[in-house]
Amino acid sequence: FSGGGVVAYSESRSETEHPVVDAGVVPKKKVVVLGTGWAGTSFLKDLDASRYDVQVVSPRNYFAFTPLLPSVTCGTVEARSIVEPVRTLIKKSKGEIKYWEAECVKIDAANRKVFCNSNIDNLVGRGKFSLDYDFLVLAVGSQVNTFNTPGVKENCHFLKDIEDAKRIRLSITDCFEKAVLPSLSEEERRSNLHFVVVGGGPTGVEFAAELHDYVQEDLTNLYPAVKDLVKITLIQSGDHILNTFDQRISTFAEQKFTRDGIEVQTGCRVISVSDKEITMKVKSTGEVCSVPHGLIVWSTGISTIPVIRDLMEQVGQGKRRVLATDEWLRVKGSEDVYAIGDCCTIDQRKIMDDISAIFAAADKNNSGTLTIEEFQDVMDDILLRYPQVELFLKKKHLLDFTSLWLDSQGNERKEIDIEGFKQALSHADSQMKSLPATAQVAAQQGTYLARCFNRMDQCEENPEGPRRFRGTGRHKFLPFRYKHFGQFAPLGGEQAAAELPGDWVSMGHSTQWLWYSVYASKQVSWRTRVLVMSDWTRRFIFGRDSSR
Ligand code: FAD
Ligand code: MG
Ligand code: MG
Ligand code: MG
Ligand code: MG
Repeated sequence: FSGGGVVAYSESRSETEHPVVDAGVVPKKKVVVLGTGWAGTSFLKDLDASRYDVQVVSPRNYFAFTPLLPSVTCGTVEARSIVEPVRTLIKKSKGEIKYWEAECVKIDAANRKVFCNSNIDNLVGRGKFSLDYDFLVLAVGSQVNTFNTPGVKENCHFLKDIEDAKRIRLSITDCFEKAVLPSLSEEERRSNLHFVVVGGGPTGVEFAAELHDYVQEDLTNLYPAVKDLVKITLIQSGDHILNTFDQRISTFAEQKFTRDGIEVQTGCRVISVSDKEITMKVKSTGEVCSVPHGLIVWSTGISTIPVIRDLMEQVGQGKRRVLATDEWLRVKGSEDVYAIGDCCTIDQRKIMDDISAIFAAADKNNSGTLTIEEFQDVMDDILLRYPQVELFLKKKHLLDFTSLWLDSQGNERKEIDIEGFKQALSHADSQMKSLPATAQVAAQQGTYLARCFNRMDQCEENPEGPRRFRGTGRHKFLPFRYKHFGQFAPLGGEQAAAELPGDWVSMGHSTQWLWYSVYASKQVSWRTRVLVMSDWTRRFIFGRDSSR
């Protein structure tokens, strides 16, 4: 940690706390986990902590159930109902897990050290400490991407964490209270009640829908004098909102918003923001316009946080946009560092890069050709190792491979040579796609990595087992495989849209009930489940609370 050596970091905590190690007893490997969001907590939940010396660092001592953050902005659900203390979560673990409330400010990959900074400022320098690790698990999430648009940081709200949601809730109340003050002109009232949402992804759309419900169901009753002056605008740079969803859902959402009076401006890019105005450019015409606003929520995607940026420079990933891991979630360029969740992306290997090696390994008798049996055998491994091949074969309905065994005249082949093998798989790599930055991916990666850690020593004793991939190497574990369970988009007015596996789309009121039940069941504890469900009930009966 440079800085001219002015700030002396105290001696490594883990060393001072484990001074005596019995001779002959192998000390436990030190695992340091950064972050207690979706990825970090799911890793800790499944890790057998009795096998390791586990330390967790996160600046917030709770886990937040992010899918309900938009509900917190309008008081549909209270902030406390969607958080679970980290200390409660780690208490449930089999072994001891230590937690430090601090932010990691620097990772030194070469010396296997992380430098941390506690937010408690009256510790006079002692809030800073460093930790040594044998394995580092990065689960630090991401930050909002402002695309360096001037004025965004200063004048927009983000919606990433509990604190953001609480601030938005207060600001909405402020806007209404301000707008009814006797001294304001109608123009000023209108400006104060212009709510702008930038970004037409799931978060932006859900927030706009929540806000619309809040205004219609509660605020118009409480502020009747200004009820006709409220306006919600959703700005999207692409041509459609919810463009990662099925087109039917995105159309349904656009139509519903138009009926509700939410103005959807697609094809618009925000170029600057001031405390009074937001300036944007219509992409098609190049026209630039400025509109006054009362509140802006900025939700246009994510970018890499500074500590991870710095690590990327150290490990030779400086030119990349996102930290890359291999399919086993190991950070490329740094042994013993793993990354899960929004802070990273899996750099999937192309099968065509390995195709000759795979063929050679599969051709056990070195005949230069593969028999059906040899082929099927290697395909089993390929399907595990290269997820794109499965997607490719599914898409072409080729999972039985039979048509790969026909030559150009349609005759059945007895053997397949390297050229035929290459040809059969040549388009598979086109099916590679990066995983979305969602809680679902983060949680599954946490669980996967914990299972790898739980079996690590067993695999070290027996490096070839339990299942070795015959194609390219000596890997002890199957690569991470994501299982998609579908996604929801709540659209307000007790309606939601859902996209479920198998091209199944559902929209409307019944989907909202499905949403309620899924989100209740996904809560991390019975405590938060009860809190969330009673918040929903309270809202149904008494409405939302608009006080500060
Ligand atoms: P996070 O959950 O963001 O956790 C990051 C953790 O790292 C936090 O504990 C943070 O305090 C900590 N941290 C940050 N910096 C440091 C540091 N320097 N040192 C140590 N610790 C640090 N996904 C879905 O699948 N479904 C949804 O419905 C959904 N809705 C969403 C709604 C909103 C409003 C938002 C913002 C996101 C939503 N997501 C949803 C996405 C989902 O929340 C993320 O994909 C998920 O949180 C990623 O998990 P993570 O653990 O990588 O990061
Ligand atoms: Mg996390
Ligand atoms: Mg989280
Ligand atoms: Mg990711
Ligand atoms: Mg052969």
